Amino acid sequence: MQKFMALFCRFFTKVSVLFLFMITSLSAAHATIVVSVKPIGFIVEAIADGVTDTSVLLPDGASPHTYSLKPSDLAKIHSAELVVWISEDMETFLPNVLKSVAESKQLALTAIPQIQTLLRKGHSQANGDSDHHDDASDHDHDHGTHDEHIWLSPQIVKIIAHTIRDRLIAQYPDKQAVVDENLNEFMINLTETEQNIAKKLIPVQNKGYFVFHDAYGYFESQFGLKNLGSFTLNPAVQPGVQTVYAIQQSLKEHHAVCVFREPQFSPSVIDKLVKGTTVRVGELDPLGTGIAPAKDAYSQLLLKLTGQLLACLDHQ
Ligand SMILES: [Zn+2]
Repeated sequence: MQKFMALFCRFFTKVSVLFLFMITSLSAAHATIVVSVKPIGFIVEAIADGVTDTSVLLPDGASPHTYSLKPSDLAKIHSAELVVWISEDMETFLPNVLKSVAESKQLALTAIPQIQTLLRKGHSQANGDSDHHDDASDHDHDHGTHDEHIWLSPQIVKIIAHTIRDRLIAQYPDKQAVVDENLNEFMINLTETEQNIAKKLIPVQNKGYFVFHDAYGYFESQFGLKNLGSFTLNPAVQPGVQTVYAIQQSLKEHHAVCVFREPQFSPSVIDKLVKGTTVRVGELDPLGTGIAPAKDAYSQLLLKLTGQLLACLDHQ
């Protein structure tokens, strides 16, 4: 009897291994488009709706500048039908793993020629405000020569949407009607949103502000906003006396109305910087935190950003 049990157990183990293997290959067969950051995921999802699934690597609250991949991410990347990402300057955690992924299954957005011609120069060249680097160091934007926050350019986003459309139609020719309808809907919605935002932001176009993350250049230039410059700070480190002084001088000198922090900065650090000035503190979220997947999610992200700008700049 014992011998029988042992045999049975061995058999059972083999069956479960086989079963596990089947599950794994099934999920591998169920390919999806894997996208690095949420805003790009919103775009891909809107175009691929009803055709294939979209999966976003970075969870809410994670920054593409500092993220590192989990084992489950690696599995997702390796079973993806397509990996959509921005560039090695933005997602520094991706190039290594992508070496083992066929090139035909990768789409680096900044490599698209039409997008390349629209890339803005990086921070120091664009703003001329390169004097606040005292404590600063570990931020990405120092080594990138272009502004990689391309999802905040509606113009570039439209090219991304068209590119995803072309890819999907090449892969699923029988789904062309669905994909084209998705693209059409996306374009109409985005164009309306742009007009809507342009109107909303007119009253604050001459209100100067500083940011703590130079991510908004595309959006600011499209809507004529008055970014006075950016302070590069390590959110985890209290700024030194000299940095605090230099930032306060800049705020006064340029008559800034607001400074915008992002959720990773503790309010106490920012309060220290604006102490003794009339500058208000606002918050900006470039990644659409908390926005649920929906066909108009990308427009929602732009509208959320607009609301956050207005909340501080247009404050009476
Ligand atoms: Zn950034």
